[in-house]
Amino acid sequence: RRQPSRKGSMADVPKDLLREIRHLEELFTIDTAKLKAITEHFVSELTKGLTEEGGSIPMNPTWCMGFPNGYETGTFLALDMGGTNLRVCEVILPEEKGEFDIIQSKYRMPEELKTGTADELWGYIADCLQQFIEYHHEGEELDQLPLGFTFSYPASQDYIDHGVLQRWTKGFDIDGVEGKDVVPPFEEALKERGVPIRLTALINDTTGTLIASAYTDTEVKIGCIFGTGCNAAYMENCGSIPKLAHMNLPPDTLMAINCEWGAFDNEHVILPRTPYDVVIDKESPRPGQQAFEKMIAGLYLGELFRLVLVDLHDNKEIHIFEGQDIGTLRKPYSLDASFLSAVEDDPFENLSETHDLLASKLSLRATKPELELCRRLAELIGTRAARLSACGVAAICKKKDYKTAHVGADGSVFNKYPHFKARGAQALREIFDWEPKKGGKSARDPVEIVAAEDGSGVGAALIAALTIKRVQEGQL
Ligand code: BGC
Ligand code: MG
Repeated sequence: RRQPSRKGSMADVPKDLLREIRHLEELFTIDTAKLKAITEHFVSELTKGLTEEGGSIPMNPTWCMGFPNGYETGTFLALDMGGTNLRVCEVILPEEKGEFDIIQSKYRMPEELKTGTADELWGYIADCLQQFIEYHHEGEELDQLPLGFTFSYPASQDYIDHGVLQRWTKGFDIDGVEGKDVVPPFEEALKERGVPIRLTALINDTTGTLIASAYTDTEVKIGCIFGTGCNAAYMENCGSIPKLAHMNLPPDTLMAINCEWGAFDNEHVILPRTPYDVVIDKESPRPGQQAFEKMIAGLYLGELFRLVLVDLHDNKEIHIFEGQDIGTLRKPYSLDASFLSAVEDDPFENLSETHDLLASKLSLRATKPELELCRRLAELIGTRAARLSACGVAAICKKKDYKTAHVGADGSVFNKYPHFKARGAQALREIFDWEPKKGGKSARDPVEIVAAEDGSGVGAALIAALTIKRVQEGQL
């Protein structure tokens, strides 16, 4: 669909605007040397997070202690509390190796809920679960169904069926939940409604992704989410987790670690933050938190783009969108990552799709040079996100000394953002000094980021199944 080359397209851009574009390129470009430096620092921060003293990356033990063998069986509920949707699944793991059946319902996650009260949140979730059960099991006498609850926020866990929320991320800001165990109020809401569900495991989406992907692809060693937020999980040996030493677990016992790598570089020592990143952080409900995530996750990509455009309109001599009302553009978070995706995907030489989008979404009439600016800016923001994400993946591989691996990845940015995969793969090649792939399309890189299995459905069910098995065997 894309035109073969848009290289010459800057030819008509006036000098002063071109100067701004070059400046943005400097701000947002991360060269190979910087990628390598970030990765090195990342490795040491991952290691530090596992110590008693800790660092900025939480490295949360999840009590998911091993991979599935493919023969897990049973019927499980799975609940995914995401940023936009709430999804409830019933997952059946049959006797056949690596198989699964799934039925699911999606419920809207009302925007107000994210900044409402804890009671409203748990009440709404319990209502959805109740609806699901009434719809799919009408009139049946039910035993307590085991539930894997995918709660995609940083949580400290001493047991797999509990979790103390460390802090909200991704723009959530509900009072009275941080620092507390989220399971009792959740179960209370279920009990009030008489919903026959027993929470078996509280799971991070990355852990679910790791386990679901490893179920169907034994090469998978890391699970990643590149979506509204961004994070990864991998399997560690307990002997390499000094902060669990007091548990006296055998050193070769496996423990999935939810890195919570969004918090990487919260102390701002290595990431090349732009003034726009600084504004995003300052205006967010949790300033000082999730420094890495705020530069790469889907929630922030459109906002970065918007902040740059507003800045170029207000503060620079060039005055883009001269004489027009930029009122809509001034509204925080009025552009999301799908807007940027569409700009990057505009196939037309004259960027007419971008032109129409700016008109319909923002009531702006952009000139051809302004359209070129928008396109380049989207490319810069999207490319930076993919390249920084690769540093996290590379760091886990270095820490674990993985020479080859599959990385199961999920999330809206990974699945939908144009070129994200190719840009990430290119960055990995630069970080590891891999030769360019020979042998055409079928050639493989040693570490490959691949599309994951459904982590918060199948993954959550598998972790619930593994947990029940461990309880039955007296291991928990
Ligand atoms: C959360 C993580 C989650 C990631 C992806 C981050 O904001 O802190 O727990 O895995 O988003 O959903
Ligand atoms: Mg999700």
